[in-house]
Amino acid sequence: MNSFVINSALDMHLHLRDNDMLKLVGPLTSHHFSGALIMPNLQPPITTKEALLLYKDKILKACKADNFEPYLTIFFQVDYTYEFLKEIKDEIIAVKLYPFGVTTNSETGVSSMDVEVLRPTLESMSKLNIPVCVHGETQGFVMDREKEFLPIYESLAINFPDLKIIMEHISTKDAIELLQKYDNLYATITIHHLLLTLDDLSGRMLNPHAFCKPIVKRPEDRDALQKLALTAHPKIMFGSDSAPHQKEMKECHDGAAGIFTAPIALQLLTQFFEQHGKLANLNAFVSLNAQNIYNKKPIEKSIHLIKKDFVVPDKYTFKDEVVVPLFAKETLSWSIEDCPNEQ
Ligand SMILES: [Zn+2]
Repeated sequence: MNSFVINSALDMHLHLRDNDMLKLVGPLTSHHFSGALIMPNLQPPITTKEALLLYKDKILKACKADNFEPYLTIFFQVDYTYEFLKEIKDEIIAVKLYPFGVTTNSETGVSSMDVEVLRPTLESMSKLNIPVCVHGETQGFVMDREKEFLPIYESLAINFPDLKIIMEHISTKDAIELLQKYDNLYATITIHHLLLTLDDLSGRMLNPHAFCKPIVKRPEDRDALQKLALTAHPKIMFGSDSAPHQKEMKECHDGAAGIFTAPIALQLLTQFFEQHGKLANLNAFVSLNAQNIYNKKPIEKSIHLIKKDFVVPDKYTFKDEVVVPLFAKETLSWSIEDCPNEQ
């Protein structure tokens, strides 16, 4: 096979940041994707309707050259009222829940994952049919954080049976087992958790551009995620968790967590699904499953991929913003036809 078409690609977990960084990375997603679920962890995080609408406007301006729909989220707070959620419901696709301090700009995340503390807000969301997206990690040992969080996912699934709960960026085989146990659990998978293990981050030289939360794990975890993605299991969808940081914030002491994959995601996914003889499942993984889970009809947009070498740029820049993608300077076997990123 020498060409492949992806229809209405959706990235259901994306960080677009703000200001010049948004102007740089926004179009790198909107050129290829029809829509994306945008995370609200700005500085300060998005918790009001005013901030949400302002951010949406900025995103649409940054991506105005493309036909692209941002699906907005707000940052979970325990004091959101039913009335507030009802008022904002049509502007958001979900609410994102961060436990305190687990990743970039989560310092104002919830300090207790006790079900009773979360109950009023989650019950309102459940009644209003607003899904919750969860960054499921504890503050434990870095390799075990997701596994330690699984009982919390389980108690949420049991206590709120009508609430759609999205386990974001799952990274372990244990998470997959839980996902399959409860009807109201769904998950996103990133491209980096499908392709990398801890060896790629630190087994040879340290690669700060492969550092993220949750951290990439063991080969058996990666293999289990691959199996699930390649079969396009209906409870999973693609969410890149593409999370740009300034080059100097990555290549330094105290380097920030986040892997930037937005402009290479579709090429990498096509290469990966083709290598495993599963291209027939790629459209489900990267669009149809998300349409079903979130009940969304995306903008129609076809992306044509051709089997032609694509050398990943060493960096992407706009004004003072410089971002290094995963696999910089490496060669992928699939390119996007007529893509402005690749000239
Ligand atoms: Zn994220």
